[in-house]
Amino acid sequence: MALTTQANKNSIGLISTKDTPEFNKTYKAGSHSLHSGIYKCSKCDREIAFNKDDNPLPPHYSNDSCRSPEWKLFIYAQN
Ligand SMILES: [Zn+2]
Repeated sequence: MALTTQANKNSIGLISTKDTPEFNKTYKAGSHSLHSGIYKCSKCDREIAFNKDDNPLPPHYSNDSCRSPEWKLFIYAQN
């Protein structure tokens, strides 16, 4: 689970998935995304920080229970 302070939480904006369908997409390891942020695997809940300039999205390196991640955008970093 991503953690933050109350002060940081209060400065995070909310957006509708209708306005940002990117939040509904899932990506396999090796896929490219145009959005930086925190991604969460929808199979095992592992979270990663991802920079769009570092494409593609990574595999799980040492998690034997989930070998084929399905990354989903969890927190979008706009800048
Ligand atoms: Zn996983």
